[in-house]
Amino acid sequence: MKSNSEKDTKQTLEELENETEACTRCELHKTRTNVVFGTGPAKADVMMVGEAAGYYEDQAGEPFVGAAGKKLDGLLKKAGLSRENDVYITNILKDRPPENRDPTPEEIEACRPYLEKQIRMIKPKLIVALGRFAAGELLGRSVSVSKEHGSLEDSSYGGWHCRLFISYHPAAALYGADAAMKLEEDFEKLGEVVEKLDEFKTAEQTTL
Ligand code: SF4
Repeated sequence: MKSNSEKDTKQTLEELENETEACTRCELHKTRTNVVFGTGPAKADVMMVGEAAGYYEDQAGEPFVGAAGKKLDGLLKKAGLSRENDVYITNILKDRPPENRDPTPEEIEACRPYLEKQIRMIKPKLIVALGRFAAGELLGRSVSVSKEHGSLEDSSYGGWHCRLFISYHPAAALYGADAAMKLEEDFEKLGEVVEKLDEFKTAEQTTL
């Protein structure tokens, strides 16, 4: 019986990215400028998952490059993480919803296989869910970020089991001082969590 990741081994992250560039599984392909697949080391221990591309991300083809991206850079520094060396960053949706509206359940479902495969290929020890859509998708339940931010959970997504840390989407810091403060606190705590990464157990589910 082959594990999901054995089945994925023939495909590289780059090939998966090429697949998304031709993807027409949901309506968002009609309005995208670029697919925003993800950036970072292919074997990062920490993976960050946001919601979807915004205007600047759609233009650049990279996640978190606008004001929210600058905010995230500062937060990563606070946690002692380097964006270039330590963290793989992606979103639930690889394309931008028009006018930055919320993702629909149909779009999330259509894009799910890409995130599942990314996670199985990268094999992170820790996933950081940025915002309620990411946390809800990765935990398979509705999440109140205002109540659950800063908490560490067990995650099982796409056949990969690891730890998951919940926080706000960095864009929330641009709209309110309260969220900005909570994000700072969360990422300070994340720095402590990351120091224990070597103790975290991961596991792969054998299916099919
Ligand atoms: S958002 Fe995802 S599922 Fe929809 S077209 Fe883009 S890559 Fe495909």
